[in-house]
Amino acid sequence: VERDDDTHYFHSYEENDIHEIMLKDTVRTVSYARFILSNPQIFKDAVVMDVGCGTGILSMFAAKAGAKHVYAIEASGLAVKARENIRKNGFADTITVIQGKVEDIELPVKQVDVIVSEWMGYMLLYESMLDSVLVARDRFLAPGGLMAPSQTRLVISAITGDRVWKERVAFWPSVYGFDLSTMQAPAFDEGLTEVVDKEEVVTSEAIVRDINSHNATIKSLDFHSSFTLNATAGAGPSQTQTIKAFLTHFDTFFSPLSGEASHVSPEEEVEILPFGDNEFEAPVQPLESSEKGRQVSFTTGPRGKYTHWKQVVFLLRKHITLGPDQRIDGRFFCKKSPTNSRELDVEIHYRVCDGEGGDAEGSYDVQCY
Ligand code: SAH
Repeated sequence: VERDDDTHYFHSYEENDIHEIMLKDTVRTVSYARFILSNPQIFKDAVVMDVGCGTGILSMFAAKAGAKHVYAIEASGLAVKARENIRKNGFADTITVIQGKVEDIELPVKQVDVIVSEWMGYMLLYESMLDSVLVARDRFLAPGGLMAPSQTRLVISAITGDRVWKERVAFWPSVYGFDLSTMQAPAFDEGLTEVVDKEEVVTSEAIVRDINSHNATIKSLDFHSSFTLNATAGAGPSQTQTIKAFLTHFDTFFSPLSGEASHVSPEEEVEILPFGDNEFEAPVQPLESSEKGRQVSFTTGPRGKYTHWKQVVFLLRKHITLGPDQRIDGRFFCKKSPTNSRELDVEIHYRVCDGEGGDAEGSYDVQCY
């Protein structure tokens, strides 16, 4: 029997709640809107595909930006509501909603000029929706066509982790006078979606995966990569830090260029754009643009504004003591879970250099629901 990792997955997108949460995430939605509306040289008269259109929001931004036609693909039953939203807003002639998996559908045209998709999951790759977007790219994107977003990066750092430790670990040994510490284990086996204060980050950051949407392969999304985290002067230059967890977040880039030219290198400074509150109450205003177009990016890291992705915390059974001149050398392993391709198995192996503690490692299943 073929295993079915889809039914439950698409079912979860039929609930209103998840779409409400995504739409109210202004960092997320405004970034897409800014990119689409600030780059008329890309979207005007273009044929666009929106992979996983949900309510149809990104398709409507593209139509508003002057797209010739938008194919809005949605596998879940929400396709019916998307069609209605699109009609209500006067875009029925410009946007065609097709209900089905992008892997299976047929288009009335051979190719599209642009693929937009909001496919990012917790820890970037949870849900494995990028796989579907890459299939869509290989099936439908014209040579030289544009992927939005163009690039994403998964980033690791280390944190004191005091708050999460208190709430998820220290809580259990004394609950209404009972010792429930047998309940602690899952906190160490799973990636925990939590909002972490930037003051808790006590090392440098390292990129563990840098994905260019134009040329990434599905195979390359199971990966391992080495990293180095240097102690930073978190609480003061001569302080020794106690590290209770690793932390991951991701950054997303939208380039007006396609292919390799879209790539933002780690050294490049990226402009951090402000986001307001309740920005969904009025139409998004285009940014000042030039002929060459406008790059847009956002971070889900602790230094950025809150997003519904939060960050992912990996608690350590054994704390790391890190002196001011020390560093953590490690290896980050990430692959789809063999029992459910929408889930991830993460292992973090690490070693403190020039320090006590020696070798240590931890492994986690990322199950964020
Ligand atoms: N674009 C919308 C929704 C993003 S959530 C927005 O930005 O608000 C991702 C959506 O993609 C979900 O509605 C999900 O059902 C859909 N989806 C995921 N994989 C898909 C696939 N392979 N084919 C079609 N739709 C898919």
